[in-house]
Amino acid sequence: MPSVFSRIVSGELPSAKVYEDDETLAFMDINPASRGHTLVICKEEHPDIFSTPPHLIAAVAQTTQKVALALRDALNIDGLNIIQNNGAAAGQVVFHYHVHLIPRWQGDHVLRSWTPHPTDPSELQAIAEQIRAALED
Ligand code: 5GP
Repeated sequence: MPSVFSRIVSGELPSAKVYEDDETLAFMDINPASRGHTLVICKEEHPDIFSTPPHLIAAVAQTTQKVALALRDALNIDGLNIIQNNGAAAGQVVFHYHVHLIPRWQGDHVLRSWTPHPTDPSELQAIAEQIRAALED
């Protein structure tokens, strides 16, 4: 069963499109966190960052920057959050790789940041070593 975003790509479902090229599509989020909340997807359906081919990750990144510049110029934004959820534990609901662009204005309280937790530098080194080992595999 195609994802809801694949159904938008095929034209089966409507959307408010802002940009399209061979590999990507940008359109307004149906339940925006803020005015101008836009989604950038790759047209080919892949669930998340783990499974999407690198050239499509790059294409989505390029479109994300294009749309970011347009949001800045069109909506007089003060800032922009770019969020990309992977997996239900991270809040992903639509399992078709996509990036959120969420315009921000000073004092809008649209998103809360995480709570920083100080940690031991040796713990940071240990985690970095684990990640380096995985990169070498
Ligand atoms: P996720 O939590 O998976 O990163 O976010 C999925 C996003 O897709 C949500 O912000 C949701 O509002 C948006 N969305 C879900 N269904 C539709 C739809 O049919 N059309 C549009 N334009 N956005 C959708």
